[in-house]
Amino acid sequence: MQIPQSRPDLGPREMAAVTEVMESTMLSLGPRVRAFEQTFRDRLSVPHALAVSSGTAGLHLCIRAFEIGEGDEVITTPFSFVASANCVEFERAVPRFVDIDPQTLNIDAARIEAAITPRTKAILPVHVFGLPADMDAIGEIARKHGLKVIEDSCEALGASWRGRPAGTLGDAAVFAFYPNKQITCGEGGMIVTQDARAASLMDSMRNQGRADDGGWLRHERLGYNYRLDELSSAIGEVQMQRLDELLGLRSDVAGRYDRLLGDVEGVTIPYRDPAAEVSWFVYVVRLDGGIDRDEVMRRLGDRGVQCRPYFPSIHLQPYYVNKYGFKRGDFPITEDVSGRTLSLPFFGRLQAHEQEYVRDALVAVLRETATPAAR
Ligand SMILES: *Cc1c(COP(=O)(O)O)cnc(C)c1O
Repeated sequence: MQIPQSRPDLGPREMAAVTEVMESTMLSLGPRVRAFEQTFRDRLSVPHALAVSSGTAGLHLCIRAFEIGEGDEVITTPFSFVASANCVEFERAVPRFVDIDPQTLNIDAARIEAAITPRTKAILPVHVFGLPADMDAIGEIARKHGLKVIEDSCEALGASWRGRPAGTLGDAAVFAFYPNKQITCGEGGMIVTQDARAASLMDSMRNQGRADDGGWLRHERLGYNYRLDELSSAIGEVQMQRLDELLGLRSDVAGRYDRLLGDVEGVTIPYRDPAAEVSWFVYVVRLDGGIDRDEVMRRLGDRGVQCRPYFPSIHLQPYYVNKYGFKRGDFPITEDVSGRTLSLPFFGRLQAHEQEYVRDALVAVLRETATPAAR
């Protein structure tokens, strides 16, 4: 048996949508990108949605739109995919890491104020694994100190915090559509915001700095090619129409894992925050201290169960160590969690018998790798 870590859910409707774009020969800047954006405006009830070529591109544009530049500081989490910190680096600003809450694995809001300096411009919380960060506390701190809030919602499409959708809780938010996310279009991202000025700037910057009213070869500002093409947009639009179906399947798979793994010794299943509705991006369990996570992962791989160590600590990535001199011990909760988390195969079409196989393999591997003292 071979069970992949993730697998996109694409069907005949996506196929037909792509074919239609190909037949139209309009492959960029056409009607599909506008339709894809409209699905986000409708779903989240936000005035502005801008499709971009990736989640990372979207985060970069948010940093630019809020004029965060050299020497400015952005408070964020070291327990995330590296792009949430890199987007700050792109503009020679400084990511100020704040350790996480050991239960939610999101930035610990209670530690944020201590990290604020006169150079702080924004807070960039990540809704890790689809569980929203504490947006009440973060919003309050941001208001008090005059900071922008950029939500990295790349893992949280469909999640909500106290009934309000992730992506509508800050000044701007970004979703991402890499093939392992809740919806995919190949590569792609979506920025949403209520801020008309920021939206207009980002609209221009994603398209080479062109202005709405200028000509094709008039460039008002420094811009990029962060456009999303029509083929990707067409896939994304269909995936958004199927969003509730896709989220429902993922939630069922997560519920089955909960039941299968809930009483496996040495394994802690994902935390449920009563204030939040999680959108299942991945299913990450935590192994007890003393278990060799990497060895468990290797042996599961040998049995055809593809796992990932989500996430390695960002501050201990070579680029960040070289630039800032971070060392082990700087963010102890993140480091501890990073060493014990294991992302199991997870996607909407994962079958019950495959999940049972994963459980049995995990139980067997834990038994094999247990030290005599632990037994
Ligand atoms: C996926 C992801 C991104 C980046 O998305 P890409 O589309 O791959 O650029 C950013 N932040 C987080 C937390 C992510 O999981």
